[in-house]
Parts: sequence; structure tokens; C-alpha cells
Amino acid sequence: MKAMRLVAEGRGLEAMSVDFPPLSPSSALVKVAAAGVCHSDLHLISGSYDLGDGRKLSATGGGAVLPLTPGHEIAGSIESLGAGSESSGLKEGDPVVVYPWIGCGRCRRCALGRENQCEGAQRFLGFMQDGGYAEYVFVPNVRYLVNAEGIGAPQAATLACAGITALSSLRKCQLQPLDLVLLIGAGGVGSTAVQIAKKTTKARVAVADLDDWRLEQASKLGADYVFNTSKIDAKDLATQLKRVNDGRGADAVIDYVGTPRTASLGLRLLGHEGRLVLVGLVGGGMALPLPVLPILGAEILGNFTGTLAQLNEMVALVRSGQVAPLVSRSYPLEEANVVLERLARGEIAGRAVLVP
Ligand SMILES: [Zn+2]
Ligand SMILES: [Zn+2]
Repeated sequence: MKAMRLVAEGRGLEAMSVDFPPLSPSSALVKVAAAGVCHSDLHLISGSYDLGDGRKLSATGGGAVLPLTPGHEIAGSIESLGAGSESSGLKEGDPVVVYPWIGCGRCRRCALGRENQCEGAQRFLGFMQDGGYAEYVFVPNVRYLVNAEGIGAPQAATLACAGITALSSLRKCQLQPLDLVLLIGAGGVGSTAVQIAKKTTKARVAVADLDDWRLEQASKLGADYVFNTSKIDAKDLATQLKRVNDGRGADAVIDYVGTPRTASLGLRLLGHEGRLVLVGLVGGGMALPLPVLPILGAEILGNFTGTLAQLNEMVALVRSGQVAPLVSRSYPLEEANVVLERLARGEIAGRAVLVP
């Protein structure tokens, strides 16, 4: 079968022909209909995350063996099932979205159903095991397949990373009715988060971004307040947030960008007992004004993707029409390198998906 594979870090993907992996009990082979192209793929290909001060963090914790097929946002149909998968209720031909954040299955996080935070030998598809930039993907256990009936494959694919990241990061804010949450970055994940917040909480949603067109889109999706941070400085933004929040800072801020500038801004805008959730992985380091955290009783949390249960929840939210998935544009699988380059230049709106 055809696959676009990473052969050496820092280089473009190569078109290769790979053998079908043998099916083992309870496993599944999925025929890929769409594979989302995510910013994390850029980190995987470059090999690292930027920690600031010239320091780097390996993108796979040393767990990847090259060549590797990237792609962790995968939707398609079940091609074949291993023995013992009958109890799953799924059958060959069913449309599915794949949960790619597969853990070791033995550590405490995995036992708690939070495999995306596995502290053992992670088996994330598209990072440590072959992913969806291919005609077929091997899934070690049928339990990682979620029935995606009624949702188009390009839309379903984006739920496995962008969708559950939006849901999980919002949950971490523990929003109460009338709370004010500020979302920094109105790209694909941020705009999904606007919809989830408006449909599943009674909180008010503010959005900050550098682009007016993204802010207009956020308003259409239900954002209560939008701020263009290329036109307003941090001090004025803090004043405006307090004006709409009874004199308090934001009850929660989610940073979907993840630069020193956005994280510092988020911290500065927090009110008492506010939560700053860091999601974006653009990278860098920041100086922390230490007394601010104890005085505000504030918290800083991180969020990396979401759980299998949250993927099921996202599929249900989309199927019920409460949340519209990212706007997607499809490209042939062979154009993976072109799409990745365009993503790196910030030229992709919504989510691009590769179609084998
Ligand atoms: Zn991703
Ligand atoms: Zn684990």
C-alpha cells in the first residue's frame, strides 16, 4: 500500500510502498478516507519542540523508529477485523474515526482512561506507530474505533485531535455559569472550543486573535466578545475584560497558541482563582512573576489532546448538530509535503485533510 513516510527528521516525507501489517486478535485494519494535517506533524517532522533558550524537547520522547508514517487524525472504514472483535459491535465496512492516543495499557494514567497522558511506553498512532498518511492504518485494538456514521470522513478525522483538544481544554477550566473564559487563538481548535463552550456551558466566551476575519468567524459561532490583539495592548484588554466581568479578570484563559507572548498575556488577564490552560505548542519559554500566582490563587495547567471518552463525546456533539467540525479542504495524499509547507507558513484555514 502507498504511504507518505518520515525517513529522516527535518526532511520532507517520502512516498513509499509498505506491506500490510498482519492482523492480531482484537485489532483492526482501517481503510483511510481522510487524514488531518495537524501542527503536531510539523513538530514530529522537525523532531522537537522549542523550550526557549535554545533548549529542545524530543517530539516523540525517543519513541519513534524511522521510517514512520505520520497522521493522527484518521477517519475511514473498517477493512478487516482481527479475531475476537465481535463484541465491539463494529463490523467490516463501518465508517469510523480512530482514537490515536494509544497508551501502554499498564500505567496508572491508562488505567484511569487517560491514555493521552500515558506515562509508560506510548503507542500514539502517527508518532510511535504508523499513522494515517497511508491507504490503510493498523489499529492495535478495535476499542480505539468510534463509529462515525452520519459524519463525513474529512470532518470526523479532525475530531481525533483538534476536536478533543478543544473539548478537553474547556473541561479543565471547570467553568461555572456566567464565568468569563477567554480563548487566545481563533484557529481551528479555538473556533471549535467557542461552539462547545456556548452549547455545553453557561459561561460567557471572549476570543482574542490577531486577525479580524477569524474574530468575525468566532462571533458568528457565538463568541460574546472578540478582541483583536494587534490593535489593543494588554493593559487595555485587561481593562475591557474587567468592564464586562464585574471588575474581575477572566475566570479562565485558554492559550491555543503557546508562545511566550500569548501565555504571558493569558496570565496577566486572569482574575482571582482563575485558571490558565496552556494548549498550543508553538514554543518558547517565559519568566513567571512568582508572587502573582499565590496572591491570585491562580492555577496554570497544561492540556495535551483528550481521552477516548471525549472522542465519543465529540462525535455525539457533532452528530446532534450542536458543534460543526472544522472546515476542511481535501488534498491528494501525495501532496502531503505541499500541505505541510503551507501549514507551516500559516496559509491553511481550518483543517486540511489528505485523501489517499
Ligand atoms: Zn494533532
Ligand atoms: Zn500507559
